[in-house]
Amino acid sequence: MRGAARPPHALILLLSIAAVGESYQKFNPRAYLQNNYMPPRADFSAEDCVVPWKLRCLAEAFATGDIHGRTLIDIGSGPTIYQLLSACDHFEEIIATDYLEVNREVLRRWVRGEPDSFDWSPYIKHVCRIEGKGEQWKEKEQKLRGKLRQILPIDVHQSEPLGSQLCQRADALVSTFCLEAVSPDRPSFERALRNVTTLLQPGGHFLLIGALEESFYLAGEAKLSVVPVSEADVKEALSKSGYYIHDFRSYLMPPSLKIGVDDVSGVFFVHAQKKPVA
Ligand code: SAM
Repeated sequence: MRGAARPPHALILLLSIAAVGESYQKFNPRAYLQNNYMPPRADFSAEDCVVPWKLRCLAEAFATGDIHGRTLIDIGSGPTIYQLLSACDHFEEIIATDYLEVNREVLRRWVRGEPDSFDWSPYIKHVCRIEGKGEQWKEKEQKLRGKLRQILPIDVHQSEPLGSQLCQRADALVSTFCLEAVSPDRPSFERALRNVTTLLQPGGHFLLIGALEESFYLAGEAKLSVVPVSEADVKEALSKSGYYIHDFRSYLMPPSLKIGVDDVSGVFFVHAQKKPVA
């Protein structure tokens, strides 16, 4: 069948999204974890270091008590679980998702407690400390493992990012360093945000963390392009997708943490809420 002519810009967009997908085939989870989740970026003795900053933003958002429900979906989890540590008390089930099978396998291995898994224990201990509820870290680790029942493939560039895998929309979403890192330009970033918003029920909360003004990052042999976004771009994209912003914070990456694995200028954290249907 001869199809209708596709407008050239749509074809270019499809090609650039395909190129991003291709560049991720070389993503090395171990190198990515080493670059971003080990010292100097993960220094738990300094509250103003980037990793403790992210963990505090998440802990404080969940401590409000406003974000809870049956299901939370993490969009583009990658090989990491730190972003779910403060969430696990507030949801019955947590669904992790990623585009790459290698990352989903890293997560499954952590859930099974395989011995060669990345050591998240300093993160879990730190979160127990800052939450101040007297929880033992082993207890939190077990709780999160128990709640992470599904680890699903996802593509945020699809209008239905999880296809038919989802039975019910989530009560909340978390996403860290995904949307800008997989979008070739700002319109695709905005479209990806619109696509994942379909997974969230009206009135649901979204905790979004990402890179500010970054153009690339490294993960082993892979050099991944990132669409540089400003605070204003993120706020505008959220507003266009129908969110209220409850809290917006920024972190300026200090020179000591500019270690050549990316060109990130800072990090944003947003607590947004999808507007209820009128
Ligand atoms: N969330 C983790 C974190 O906080 O470090 C990982 C972020 S990593 C920068 C970006 C992630 O997006 C990778 O795990 C990658 O596999 C995933 N990804 C790549 N293309 C994607 C797509 N089209 N849809 C969803 N996720 C994608």
